[in-house]
Order: sequence, then structure tokens, then C-alpha cells
Amino acid sequence: MSEVVKVERHDAVAIVTIDSPPVNALSAAVRKGILDGVTSAAADPQVQAIVLTCGGRTFVAGADITEFGKTPMPPSLHDVIVAIENSPKPVIAAIHGTALGGGLELALGCHYRVAVKDARLGLPEVKLGLLPGGGGTQRLPRAVGPEMAVKMIVTGEPISAQDALKNGLIEEIVEGTPAAGGEAFARKVVAEKRPLRRLRDDDSKLAAAKADKSIFTNAAAAANKRNRGLEAPVTAAEAVSHALDQPFDQALKTERELFLKLMNGDQSKAQRYAFFAERAAAKVDGVPEGTKPRKVERVAIIGAGTMGGGIAMSFANAGIPVTIIETGEEQLKRGLGIMQKNYEATAARGGIPADAPAKRMALITGVVGLENVKDADLIIEAVFETMAIKKEVFGKLDQYANPGAVLASNTSYLNINDIADMTKRPQDVLGMHFFSPANVMKLCEIVRGAKTAPDVLMTAVAIAKRIAKVPVVVGVCDGFVGNRMLSARTKQSDKLLYEGALPQQVDAVVTKFGMPMGPFAMGDLAGLDIGWRSRQDRGIKSEIADAICEAGRFGQKTGKGYYKYEPGSRSPLPDPEIEKLIEETVTKLGLKRRQVDDQEILERMVYPMINEGARILEEKIAARPSDIDVVWLYGYGWPIYRGGPMFYADLVGLKTVADRLSYYAKATNDPSLEPTPLLKRLADEGKTFASLAKGG
Ligand code: NAD
Repeated sequence: MSEVVKVERHDAVAIVTIDSPPVNALSAAVRKGILDGVTSAAADPQVQAIVLTCGGRTFVAGADITEFGKTPMPPSLHDVIVAIENSPKPVIAAIHGTALGGGLELALGCHYRVAVKDARLGLPEVKLGLLPGGGGTQRLPRAVGPEMAVKMIVTGEPISAQDALKNGLIEEIVEGTPAAGGEAFARKVVAEKRPLRRLRDDDSKLAAAKADKSIFTNAAAAANKRNRGLEAPVTAAEAVSHALDQPFDQALKTERELFLKLMNGDQSKAQRYAFFAERAAAKVDGVPEGTKPRKVERVAIIGAGTMGGGIAMSFANAGIPVTIIETGEEQLKRGLGIMQKNYEATAARGGIPADAPAKRMALITGVVGLENVKDADLIIEAVFETMAIKKEVFGKLDQYANPGAVLASNTSYLNINDIADMTKRPQDVLGMHFFSPANVMKLCEIVRGAKTAPDVLMTAVAIAKRIAKVPVVVGVCDGFVGNRMLSARTKQSDKLLYEGALPQQVDAVVTKFGMPMGPFAMGDLAGLDIGWRSRQDRGIKSEIADAICEAGRFGQKTGKGYYKYEPGSRSPLPDPEIEKLIEETVTKLGLKRRQVDDQEILERMVYPMINEGARILEEKIAARPSDIDVVWLYGYGWPIYRGGPMFYADLVGLKTVADRLSYYAKATNDPSLEPTPLLKRLADEGKTFASLAKGG
């Protein structure tokens, strides 16, 4: 018998149990075990029905993605499914936990499916830039109809057992263990002499869409409505469409071809890379083995502004009570009001249940006065970005906070070590840098100070995960990883205006690349006055940006910035006044503008960021190139199908990146653009950033 698949016989019913922790993924051993188990059960004359089920916490949750890119080992998933489908005795999949990807395809090869009530079923392959390659695009439409199938496959979102029952994906919701429920159902199948239901032969649910093509095209278009540049969901919809216009076996071949096209394409490579990058980021270097995080039951947040409010909501969303502290009743009321409105808007859109706003707001207690941090295990400061205020707050925290409480700052740029030194417990201080809107964006840069204790670091990592954030540990420097690289880009976007580009041209190149917003639309959204004030404080001039603010154009909040905005609208409209203002400012400076092409804009938006990323690696501010990519994917909306700036650099080739940077350093008289020693070395040696993880 197989190590990972066991067969037992209960009278006339054989129970084939997959037991391969943690998630019963379809490794070569599991595939072979299933094939052998089902074949031997089918050959046993005593057996009249076979139940396929799983041990542990879930049904098969998908392919074994560590096998991706390696030589495929027989039997293939397709062979296993065909063997099950062709079994002369009924095979019943009994599902618990999640039946995902190859797991659901396996179940679709069975003649019947039952599930326990909290099971979930789905085909999430698109999330890795793929499509279901084990017959899912053909059997699912035959089970649930092509409209529902295309929706499930294109979005990749799993459905509940109740929805699966309603749509004909499962026959029954069973009580008790999945094995017992499956066995009871199998006895019914035998007693009632139910026929073998092979989905491949059942076209009944395809009839309507075959007669009226618009039924499918409309459903496919609706499912792909929010797609921004991803190939997989579009290709997946195409694969499903062949359920309607190709015979089953031919459509399976087409599915395979489309699967391989995606598998070998850059987008899926990037998406699979991102999957592993996120997991790698969770590993923290330099922490003694066995370091345990401190216990966090109560959290206090200081400042109920844009960030404090969003952070408080993230904790409440995870069911963790928070106290939010302000300087006065008025600020508190405003902050709590915004959170309440935000929850209500989400509930109105159907994003959370109708009773969720009240339940979540009940977890958030607003108070005035810093002394109220006294019961908190974790305190996150989100007050104004001014060192003097941060220092004052941390000095006071030292007096009020419980011994052992973790003290975190959400600062965007400031030095965590200087903040920590305002306390007598710098070992308890670190940065937890969330991204705006903090209740939505998944990134949390965990900034490790020079004196931060290992268990404090692990506490921040653990709590970030508990509130469904993606933590990345980084070192102390101006702007940490994300904002430091963003600054490198901002410097170029500003310069491009002097040289001849317009805001709308730069933004269009950046959004076409796949970022959600260009730098100028982003500036308008954040408010241009913040940077203006900070430049004034530091005695820095930026003629165009200053002239825009001097004209009272602070961005969306004043209806005008780099763009103009119709009342009540957030859509940026190019403004001839800005063109004029740029032209005049540049003329005054005695400069001449030129035609800047889109390729130059793209290179100058992305390559300086890559250079800064390389510098960040040299300085060991980030532990690995993939950590930098995770920061950009989850903090700034870098398109997942481009993997992150460092992955993208490897794809372009580091030699090209380094050569172009050298060229721009000279052409624009900007020595800061010269490739850093690390980038130059890798480029000269023909290596990639990825090679660094392997000691390159
Ligand atoms: P904000 O101005 O919206 O909110 C700051 C809040 O802190 C205000 O409500 C203010 O009343 C309160 N406050 C000030 N001093 C206080 C004190 N001593 N005690 C209690 N409350 C006090 O600012 P924000 O955008 O939420 O930024 C807060 C911090 O987060 C800053 O350090 C900022 O750099 C950082 N940050 C901001 C963003 C962003 O996009 N806005 C993103 C990441 C990090």
C-alpha cells in the first residue's frame, strides 16, 4: 500500500483516503497512490462503490507547486482522472476543508461529489497566472453550467458547499466526517442502482449557451471586467468557451495547449515567483532559533487620522480589540466617524455583512490622553510625521506603557533608532509601517532598529500576519525599502517635466505598465501641500512643484493639482494651464524642453528604482531581492504579473538595465543614476538578482 494513500473496505464500500500533510497536494506519490488505490478497489469483486476522501485538515488543496518547472513524473493528473472516470464502479468524492485546483478537478472526475457543510470548492489557478489544466475548464461547465464555470475559473474565487449544492457541483451536504458521509452516500448509490455519472458525457447544462452564444460571451466579459492586463483570466475564459464549440477530447487538448502557453509565459512565471517571494519574506534572518513572540491581546493606536484609523480597522477586522487615542474629543470624533462611514460604505457594497459595521466598531474604543495605553501589549504610534512630536510621544509612552509592551511607530521616513532612544527600553521599539489605505493595503514593513529585541521583531511579524498583512522585515534608513525607492522614481518624474514630458504622458506610461496610478495622479491624491511644506522646512526648491502649490493647486482636495477635477469627481483631466505653467517655469530657468518618448519615460521610471533596490541590498536594508518585490507588490500595487521591480530587472537583463542607467546618468547629468557596484558586478558577470539567493 502507498505511504500517502490508504484503502480500507467496509463491506461493499472501499474507502480510499489520501493522507499527505499539510494539504494533501497532488505530488507524484499522491497521484500514484490514488491511481493504485482506485484501480485495486475497482478490481476487488467485493467492492460495489468507492469513496475518495482525505485525512487531515482538508481535501486535496491543489497541485504540488514545488513540482512546477521540473520534469513531470507519471502518472499525470489527467491519467488519474481518466482512470477514475472510467472506473466501472461509482467513485464518490467526499470533500472537507478546501477542494482547490487539481483537487477539485480530481473530484470532477468522480461520478458523484458530496461535501461537509463548511467545505469550499474552487479553481484558483488564475492566481498563479495559469488555468485549470486537468480538465477543469471542461468538466466544471458540465457540472454547474458555463456561466457559473467561467465566473469561478476567471475570478479564481472558491464557493461554499451551499453554493456548490445549489449549482449542482455536489450532490449532497453530508453530516459527520467526510469519510462517513461519503460512505453513507455510496450505500445509497448502490442501493438505488444509480448510473455512473460521467461529466464528460453530460452536455445537458451546455444546451442553452450553445443555442445562444451571447449567454457565454456576456458571462465571460462580466467575469473579466476587473481584469487589468492579466493574460490568465482571458485565456481561461477562452478555454472554457471550447466546452461549447469543440468535442470533449479536443477541448481537453486545447486546454492543455493554453495551459502550457501560460505556464511558459512571463506572467505566470512572475505570479508563481510572487507566491514564493511572499512566503520567503516571512522568514526572518538573525533571530535565534525558537524565539517566541510576546503575547498580544490588547492593542493601542495613537492618532486617529488617515493611518491610525485604517490600522485600527485592520485589527477590528481580525477581531482584536483596540484603543485609539487622540489629543482631543473633536479629533477623536472625526476619526471614529470616518471609520464608521468607511465600514458602512463597505457593507452597502456587500463587501461585509450588514451587522459587521456595528460589531467591528464595538471593538474600537476611542479615548483622549496617552495614559490610556497602560493596558496594551502592543502600541502603534501614527501621529504627525514630525520627529519632535514622535520623540515627545515615545518619551511619554515610556512612562505609561506596561513593562514588556511592544512600542511601534508607523513613521514613513524617520529614524527608528532616534525614536527608540527617547525611551529607557529601546529593545522594545521598532517600526510597523503600514500603507494607505491601511485597512486595504496588505504590506507592513517591519523596521528593525539597532536595539530591537528578537522577540519584539517576531511579535510584530506574528501580529501582522494575524491581521492578514504581509510582513517584510527591513532595516533603518530614510524611507525604508518602499518609500526610498519611490523617492528615486519621484526625482525622475519631476525632472522629466523640465525636460519636456507632461504629467499625463508620464502617468500614462506608468499605468500602461500596470501600476494603479502614475506619480502625478498619486501626488494629487495624497495632497501636494505636504511635500511643499516639507521642502520649505528643509529649504529645498522644486520650481514646477512649488509654482503649482503657489497657484493654490494642492491636488484633488482643491479640485486642481497636476490635473483638474470636475466637482465630485476623482478622474484626473489634463489641464492646459499646467502645460503653460510648466512651459513658463522652464523658460524662466533658461532651459529648453524636448520631445521625450515613452520608452525613455518607462526606463527612467523603473530603472532608477531598481538601482536603489540594489543599493538597499548592498546596505543589507532588505535581506533578499524578493523581499523588495513583496514590498512593491503589496504596498504600491506593482502589477503581480511583472513580479516586482527586482524580478522585472532580471527579466529585462541586468546588463541592459545597467547600460541604460549609465547612459541616462551622462545624458541627464545625474551621477546618482550610475549603476551601483552590486548592479554593475551582476551585470558584468551575466548574473541575476535571483542568483543572490543562491549565493551569487
Ligand atoms: P494624519 O494627519 O491624518 O493623522 C495624524 C493624527 O494624529 C491626527 O488625527 C492628530 O490629531 C493625531 N495626533 C497628533 N499628535 C498626537 C498625540 N500626541 N497623541 C495622539 N494623537 C495625536 O496623518 P497620517 O496620514 O495618518 O500619518 C500618520 C503617520 O503615518 C505619519 O508618521 C505618516 O508619515 C505615516 N504614514 C502615512 C501614510 C499616508 O499615506 N498618509 C502612509 C504610511 C505612513
